[in-house]
This record gives sequence, C-alpha cells and structure tokens, in this order.
Amino acid sequence: MKKFIPAMALVPMLSLSLHAAEDKNFNYHVDDFADIEVLRYEVPKFNSLSLQQKLMTYYLTQAAQAGRDIIWDQNGKYNLPLRKALEEIYTRYDGDKNSQDFKAFEKYLKQVWFGNGIYHHYANDKFIPEFSQDFFSAQYDLIPADRLPSIPGLAGNEVKAMLNKVIFDPAFMPKKVNQDSNADVVATSYGNLYEGVTQQEVEDYYNLLKDPNDATPISYGLNAKVVKKDGKVQEEVYHLNGLYGPAIAKIIYWLDMAKSVAENDAQREYITRLIDFYVTGDLRLFDEYSILWAEDTKSDVDFVNGFIESYNDPLGMTGSWESYVNFKNREASARTEAISGNAQWFEDHSPVNPAFRKPEVKGVSAKVITASYLGGDAFPATAIGINLPNANWIRAAHGSKSVTLENITEAYALASIGNGFNEEFVIDAPTSKLLDDYLYITDMLHTDLHECLGHASGRLNPGVDQDALKEHGATLEEARADLFALYYLPDAKLQEIGVLDNPDAYKAEYYKYMLNGLMTQLNRIEPGKDVEEAHMRNRQLIAKWVLEKGKKDKVMELVKKNGKTYVKINNYKKMRDLIGQLLAEIQRIKSEGDYKAGNDLVQKYAVKVDPKLHKEVLDRYAKLNIPPYRGFINPVYKLVKNDNGEIIDVTIDYTEGYTDQMLRLSRDHSNL
Ligand code: ZN
Repeated sequence: MKKFIPAMALVPMLSLSLHAAEDKNFNYHVDDFADIEVLRYEVPKFNSLSLQQKLMTYYLTQAAQAGRDIIWDQNGKYNLPLRKALEEIYTRYDGDKNSQDFKAFEKYLKQVWFGNGIYHHYANDKFIPEFSQDFFSAQYDLIPADRLPSIPGLAGNEVKAMLNKVIFDPAFMPKKVNQDSNADVVATSYGNLYEGVTQQEVEDYYNLLKDPNDATPISYGLNAKVVKKDGKVQEEVYHLNGLYGPAIAKIIYWLDMAKSVAENDAQREYITRLIDFYVTGDLRLFDEYSILWAEDTKSDVDFVNGFIESYNDPLGMTGSWESYVNFKNREASARTEAISGNAQWFEDHSPVNPAFRKPEVKGVSAKVITASYLGGDAFPATAIGINLPNANWIRAAHGSKSVTLENITEAYALASIGNGFNEEFVIDAPTSKLLDDYLYITDMLHTDLHECLGHASGRLNPGVDQDALKEHGATLEEARADLFALYYLPDAKLQEIGVLDNPDAYKAEYYKYMLNGLMTQLNRIEPGKDVEEAHMRNRQLIAKWVLEKGKKDKVMELVKKNGKTYVKINNYKKMRDLIGQLLAEIQRIKSEGDYKAGNDLVQKYAVKVDPKLHKEVLDRYAKLNIPPYRGFINPVYKLVKNDNGEIIDVTIDYTEGYTDQMLRLSRDHSNL
C-alpha cells in the first residue's frame, strides 16, 4: 500500500535544517502542461555510496526501465501502439511548431506520457484531445511503413481507424477504473486487466479457487489478466513464457546483474526468489520473496520491482507493475526506528476493540529512504510512503517493511515555497504560522505512522476473506491507516520517544488534513464529477464524518469570511476523540468483513461533492496557478569505465528534460 501526497496542501517547513538537500540552488521545476507540473528530485548522498552500492543502484534502475511497457499495456489495450504512433508523429513533425494543432498535440502526448497511457493517472478518465482529427490523420499518413504501429488482428487502415477512435471518441473505453458499485465494475473498467468477462464471472472464478480455511492464501489474480477463451474464463499469467515475457526477460537479466553485487546473502536470497517468481509466475514464490524482502532490514540499497499495488483493478486483485530503487537515509531513519520500535505499545493503546488488535505485532520495520529511481506505475506520479508486502497473512505472521520517501516529500515542499496556498485557504495568521512551523515534520510523521503502524495494525477475524470489502477495500484500508496516524499524532508518546518536541504540533496536520478532505482536494476533480480515487475518498470520508459527528459540540465548522469558505477547528481535543471513534468503527468493518457498513460509510461521506463549494475551490485555486498534480522525472545514471574497460564509478546527472526522458525511454526500453 502506498500514500500519496495529499493534494497541494503541503506547505514548506521553513527551517531548512531539517532537509537533506545538498544543492541550495537545485532547480526542481521541469515542465508544466494541462493540470500537471513535472519536477525533478535530488538524490542526496548518492556519491557517498560505495562503488558496489552504486552499481547495484545502476542495475536496478535498468530493471526498473525494462518493465515500463508492462504498465502501459496494463493501463489500456491500445496504449503501446498509440504511444508509438504519437512519438513517430512528434519526432518527425517539421511543420509549424507554434500552430494550434501541434501545440495541442504536444500537450496530449505529454499527458499520455504522464498517465502511462490514455487515462489520467488519478482521475482515471480518458484525456480529451484538443487537436483535430485531420491533423492526426495527415500526420499519421507521413509515418514510414516500417515505423507504423501494429495491433494484433487489425490490418493497416484498421489500425489507424482504431487509434483514431481511441483518441477522439469519448464514449469508447472512457474510464480506466470504474468503482461505481451500481455498475459491473469489471465490464466498465477499461484498464487491460480483464477482457470479455463480467464481474460475476471473475468473482465466481476466484471464489472457486479460494480456500477460506487456507491460513496462507496466495494473492489470487495478482499477476494475471482474466479473459474468456473458447467460452471459458481463464488467466493469462504474467511470467517469462507468458504475458509480458519479453519485458520480463529483460527485468530478469538486470535483476541477475544486481544480484551479482548484492550487499549480503539475505538480499541475494530475495532477489533469487523474485527472479524465480518472474520465471514461473508462481504466486507462492512471490510470497516467499515478499517474506524474505520484508525481513531484510540490513541492506542499504533496496528496491521494489513487480506487480504490487492493486488500485488500478476495480476488484483490487491484479498488481500494477512498478519499481522503486532507493537507499537508506540513516540519520532520518532514527525517527521511524523510534516509532517502529514501539509498535506493540501503539497497537495495545489504540482505540479499537481489543479483539481486533494484533496481540503480537510482528516485525514492523520502518526506515526513511532516499529514492534513486521511480519506475512503472510509480513514475512519473509517485507515492511518498510505501508499506509492503500487501498480503494480510504475511503482514500478520512476518511483519512488513515501511518506507518514507523523504527526498520526494522534500522536493514537493521546496518546490512549493511561496505558492500563496496558505494566504488563500488557511483561516487566519496564527493557523498559517502553525502550518509553517509544524506541517513539514507532522506530515512526515503522519506518513511514518500511516505506513509503519497504520497499515500494519489490526487483524481480521478468523475466516474473513481479505477481499470482503470489494471495491471499497482500498478506500477503507487507507482510511484505517490515516486514522491510526491522526489518532496518535497528539499522543504524548511521540514526545516521550523524542520524535516531536511540541505537544501542539499535531494541530498543523489536523488542520491541513481537514482543509484538504473538505475543500482543497476538490481542486483535483472536474466540475460535475464525484470523488473516485481511493485516497481522496478516504480523506473526504474522514473529514466529512468528523464534521458531521462534531456538529453538536462545534468541533469543526465551515465558516464564511468575505464571501469565502474556510475550515475552522474549535476543539482539537474532541477532534481526536472522534478520530478514535471512526478508527474503531473502520477497524471493526475490516475485521468482520462488513461490506454493507463499509459501503454505507463510503456512499454517505466519501463520494459526493457539494457543487457550490467545488466551484469556489476551483475558482480560488485558478487564481493561484498551482497545478493540482505533480510528478517526477528521474536522474540519469551512467557507468564510468577506465582504459581497461573496468567500471570505476557511476555518475548521476539531473539535466535531462521531460520530453527527452520520455523519448529516450521509448527508444531504449520498448520491450513489448
Ligand atoms: Zn496507505
């Protein structure tokens, strides 16, 4: 599971002493288009790694690039041929580059790159092209025959017609993930994870395979597309000789190279198991890998490479391919180690029914990392915290590893200085000051607590299916982790273990969280649309629930000042009590697999948007000119060799731009 940056509300902590940033003049801004700003991130202390660790990083970045086409194909059946056509047109174009059509075409291509396909990475809707069909048609016809894209089963002109439809017909495959409970979410989600099957057929298929008494259930569907062939529902499994084989072969090659420079036996062992999994597609091997990976807390350089998060699957089963390469930030990890070292205390004192607590919290390890590469579904839009493995039984029996991506959070914060957000949305000067002083550290702590303790806390009642909450599973799980973090931020325990010095600091995170959940995250939603994405639903659920339940005690209000709406928090202490109550209820829902209660909560609080307030937020944001979404390009790593051809160093370079990076990736890493 992962945690995203909450809208644009992150306000920089002005005391730069907290930051690891090495270059004071580092230029974070790279590009902006549509609703996106592209940033770059610094990798502090990369040059302090040993040559072996640098090499390991280099090989892992290659493995991260090798799988890029997998996520493109998972995100939509026609994404790869479409990307090929768009890039051929873009690189060949020799007409007027200031023409409206070309400008609009370039914007569309940049959006498609950012979404790893035709859908918005967050909103899941198809991008709307602003260039003409005539432009596309004429430019497409200029592509040389040997450079044309192909689509299995379609002849030359049919390919062009199909791509035309994919781009221009808004009714054709309109949405990547549909979570509307009233619809067949499988048949109406156009990510490429299912084909020709209904939700009922998929549920029946897996229910037959699942053994409710299996104490170590594999994550069914994690690495497979479900299709109907000859009238029979079946899986097409992702592995070396199966679906995505050619890309997986390259991943295996680079993982093997990484293994040759691994830091220790434990790391070699889990890389071996991961390779075995990629070769066979056997999910038991993936579980074995996951356990070994979670238990390796010694290695500095670490990575994720595989089919991991299931947010892109309306049923929450199939993992999107992603990769993170990173190394440990030893200084900052003291903070997360203090938290994870007290995991049992936090579990024992949580406000949930003791029956739903873990009697023994196993191996929760937490560290702060420096991201050195983002790949697949983690690129260009990335999480700021990750907690893996996702399988509930592994988390219960073996624990989990939680990481906070500090250099990414830092890049967001430093790139936001002076953006006018506080002045526009924060109710008064004292609250603004509170945010300036304490939001950076409490936001970090929120991420640490969310990942390391929140997701790792609680247990299911015996026999409860881990997919029982179905399409609301992700929303409720994120809510549970957020609530756990929010509940403990004010706790004196944080002063006792030395991670926070001021007992009032938590108010900064509370204020921002409620402001974001009630108002500012609406900036990410188009007029007339509902809240769709799981993390956004979770935040609105919590904020609206607290607003409603706290009404009679005036815990929090929406007030008007000069015609503008503001969040006003009157009683932070009571707010914490409410947060504890909601945590207890959502833990109960998860532990008992109470789909109905979960569905009621989501429908009542998480989905609907007040159109008047929505419009107000959009208008106020528009004046600030802050794009609602941001993501990152990666630095470029290069091997340095001596005259004998021996590798003597790996260098890091930050100068590549967005378009150049995307074109280079397509040129060098088109493996499907
Ligand atoms: Zn999470």
